[in-house]
Formats: sequence, C-alpha cells, structure tokens
Amino acid sequence: MNPIFADLPTTVFEVMSALARETGAVNLGQGFPDDPGPADVRAKAAEAVVEGWNQYPPMMGLPELRRAVAQHYARWQGLDLDPDTEVMVTSGATEALAGALMALIEPGDEVVLFEPMYDAYLPLVRRAGGVPRFVTLTPPHFRITEDALAAAFSPRTKVVLLNNPLNPSATIFPDEDLELLAGFCQRFDAVALCDEVWEHVVFDGRRHRPLMAVPGMRERTVKIGSAGKIFSLTGWKVGFVMAPPHLMRGLAKAHQFLTFTTPPNLQAAVAYGLSKDDTYFEDMRTDFARARDRFAGGLSALGFSVLPSAGTYFLNLDIAPLGESDDVAFCERLVRRHGVAAIPVSAFYAHRPVRTIVRFCFAKRDDTLDRALERLRGLA
Ligand code: PMP
Ligand code: GLN
Repeated sequence: MNPIFADLPTTVFEVMSALARETGAVNLGQGFPDDPGPADVRAKAAEAVVEGWNQYPPMMGLPELRRAVAQHYARWQGLDLDPDTEVMVTSGATEALAGALMALIEPGDEVVLFEPMYDAYLPLVRRAGGVPRFVTLTPPHFRITEDALAAAFSPRTKVVLLNNPLNPSATIFPDEDLELLAGFCQRFDAVALCDEVWEHVVFDGRRHRPLMAVPGMRERTVKIGSAGKIFSLTGWKVGFVMAPPHLMRGLAKAHQFLTFTTPPNLQAAVAYGLSKDDTYFEDMRTDFARARDRFAGGLSALGFSVLPSAGTYFLNLDIAPLGESDDVAFCERLVRRHGVAAIPVSAFYAHRPVRTIVRFCFAKRDDTLDRALERLRGLA
C-alpha cells in the first residue's frame, strides 16, 4: 500500500462519532446539525428521483445548478463567474479538494498549509506529491503574519490552501490577512485553493469576503463551496468549484476520473435551494448564532474558558485553565466518563504545537445542548 495512506490513522471525526455511539454520549464532536435541512429542498430531491432524474447528468454538473451557483455568488459575494466555463459540480468539497490538488501539483511542488487545518488536507497534499510548508496559527486570534508567510513561501510554492472561515478555530481572516496573502500569491506566482465551505455560517452581521475577490486574485484562485454546509445536509456531498478557465481545464480532467458526476436529483434540489431568497440564509445564521450564544453562555456559567466563534458552527474551549495539557486525553475522558463527545484541536495540527483547545459543535437542538451542559457541570 502507499505508505502515506498505510500509516494514516482513521479520521478523528469517525473515531469520535463511533465512540459516541458506543458510549451513548451526546455527540458534539463531528460537525453535523440536528436540523434535518429545509423541507422544500429535501422534497425537491425526492420528487426528482420519482420523476426519473436518475441517469448520469453532464460531467460538469447540471446546467441549472451551474447557473444557480454563478447567480448565487454574484448575489452574495459580488463574483462574476461564467457558469459554462468557470463552475463545476463535484461530489462534495472533499472531491473538489482532492481533484484540485491532483490537477495543480507536480511531485516536489510546495504547498503552503495553514494549521490548524481540516484533517483531509495534509494526506491529500502528500499523496498528490506536494511538499507541505506550514504556517502555524495560534489561539486565540489565529492571525496570519508577514514573517510567517515569508518563511513558508519559496520559488517552489505552487499552491496555497486556505480555509476561510476556519474550521476548527471558528475564526474569519480579516481583510488585512487576505490582502497580505494575496500579495505573496502574486509575488510567488502561486494558485490559491480556497476552501470556503463555511462562507454562509458567519455571525454578528459579518459578510464573507472570498479571496477570489481580492485585487489580483481572480485569475489565480480556485474557490470551493459545499451544499452540505449551506443547507445543513452534510450527507448529500454536493460541492462546487469555481476557477478561471485555464485552471478549470485541469480540475475537470481530475473530476472526470474521480467521480465523473454527482447524483442528479441532489443537484436539482441544490439548484432550487441556492435560489432561495435572502431570508433563508439570514434565518440560518440567526438560528446558529442563537445556539452558539446558548451553549457559550452555559459553558461560561459553568466556569469554562470559551473562545469566540465568529463563523462555522463550532465553539472552542481553552482547557489550559483547568490544568489540562493534553486535549486528546481530555476528550477521551470526556466521552467515556462524562458522556460528551468533542474534538481535540491538536488533530488539526501536523506536529501538535497546540494541545489545550477542544472543539464542540453547537448546531444542535436546545435540549441536546442542555444535556451536554448538564454533563459538563462540575468539570471546571
Ligand atoms: N472542508 C472543510 C473545512 C470542512 O469543514 C468540510 C466538512 N466538514 C469539508 C471540507 C468537506 O465538505 P463536503 O462534506 O462537502 O465534502
Ligand atoms: N467537517 C466535519 C467537521 O469538521 C466532519 C466531516 C467528516 O466527518 N469527514 O466536523
């Protein structure tokens, strides 16, 4: 077996969800909402299956979905995308990431990664032959600095992989950081691969700014989105990737042999969903923000040290004030002894420089969050 995969542990999300099932714990580990997703979007998917939309759709995605994606990003982010040449539908953001790395990297090319990073990134970069160069971001602000970029970029840099809003830190990079990064991408002629799956889950009046919209980045950015996050339908695995035609050509070649396509009924339902009026998206944010405040307030009242959550549906606890120094051991105890599953944030770092942050998913019903709070009582 390829040694990069042979030596990989099972992803922390699967491990924690399995432990939660085994122990009957409240599962605030793996990120998925209790909410079943919008009923009308689900009904569209069901109708499309019954109506007979069950054969291979076009390789690049249903034309109506590609148009809906382009219109959606024009409306929400001011992007001007050609649905025929600059939008492709993928089976989740995960396929888009894997395909983009396969297409963009040649063995030995360097890839700048910001840690904490989504756990799929590093194995995919390595398997594509990329050489990772890390920029380590640290709590509580997880900001990018010029010195860190200067140390990570080199003439061999081919791709920069940025996740914004950032899972697991629940932070959003400010304009200043995006502009700094854009400058480096241009100076080193690098492509920015932007995982923006959390773009709609931003709070307190914030608007997502795509890196693609930063001056000088339009021609060198690959942007990735996911219906799983936009509609709270994480199992659907409908993603989209946006890129200028000269980059899209390579991405399409990877896609054609990775999955070729994505279930047509789900594509039709997502096309319908993306065209929903602003209220749906605003309500989603309001609902998540309310859950965030309920859970953060409850944790603070119990004496825990809670980090701010500006976007994503995650909330982080600093466990250092509890005298803890190993988030993995802490999460192990939490799930087995106290019945609450969470994610150790060190799993998102290559070398675990940060070991005292624990991530909780708050996209849950009030009673689920309250049950978790009850079980955490007395731990702080
Ligand atoms: N990137 C990030 C940062 C994520 O949080 C997730 C899902 N949690 C994904 C990619 C994967 O998205 P999808 O389910 O659409 O493949
Ligand atoms: N993205 C989800 C999270 O961060 C998990 C996705 C997965 O389980 N692969 O929790």
